[in-house]
Amino acid sequence: MTDIVVSAQGLSRTYGSGETATHALTGATLELRAGELVVLRGPSGSGKTTLLNLLGGLDSSDAGTLSIGGTDVTRAAPDEWVRLRRSTIGYVFQAFALIPHLSAAENVELPLRILGTTVAERDARVAALLARVGLEGHANQRPGELSGGQQQRVGIARALANRPRLLIADEPTGQLDSLTAEAMMDLISGLVHDEGVAAIVSTHDPKMASVADRVIDIRDGVLGARPHGRHAA
Ligand code: ADP
Ligand code: MG
Repeated sequence: MTDIVVSAQGLSRTYGSGETATHALTGATLELRAGELVVLRGPSGSGKTTLLNLLGGLDSSDAGTLSIGGTDVTRAAPDEWVRLRRSTIGYVFQAFALIPHLSAAENVELPLRILGTTVAERDARVAALLARVGLEGHANQRPGELSGGQQQRVGIARALANRPRLLIADEPTGQLDSLTAEAMMDLISGLVHDEGVAAIVSTHDPKMASVADRVIDIRDGVLGARPHGRHAA
């Protein structure tokens, strides 16, 4: 048995062709293990979203291989990715991407409805997650009635509802003030360790890396490239 959830070898993605081609990601090789929080740190335009989109099947690579949960998904068909995102992958978005007319509880519950989980199991999981993210008193409020930090807590609870093996969060603190952002990273860290999920969280803010078990720097589409300055990783 291995606890390696994601194994990527030489993933590359170029947008466009010829003189206008952008090498958004070049030869990305990484492994993510269960219960490990990896922070993907790099400036705007460095390729963070490109890499996370490949890991979540929202885009496909031009070269390289990818396996998730021991299955080679390099050339997985769209319906296989849909199945993976329902059962194995949780996604957190910078702009929360909650459904505005559903309550916090209904947003968290949605992935479980899609999976066909029983009502009793759904109710228990949703209540536990909302409590865990500190929103027990807010279950019936809609996203528009919640602060940005609270909305992102709903987003994190929703991403974990289906007990994924892989959590992908693309700049989840990008729209939050710095204090709220730090609390969010602490929450994500605690949840990753509680739930034993493999997590990759991107940020352009070097401070957000402090809770990481491991930091991967990205620059100009290349992993492991050292940022300028005195940062240790
Ligand atoms: P980050 O998330 O770190 O800000 P991205 O992965 O979004 O970086 O972008 C990496 C590079 O790829 C940038 O130069 C960006 O302009 C380019 N890029 C991203 N998406 C596209 C696209 N759909 N078409 C063309 N270029 C793109
Ligand atoms: Mg991005």
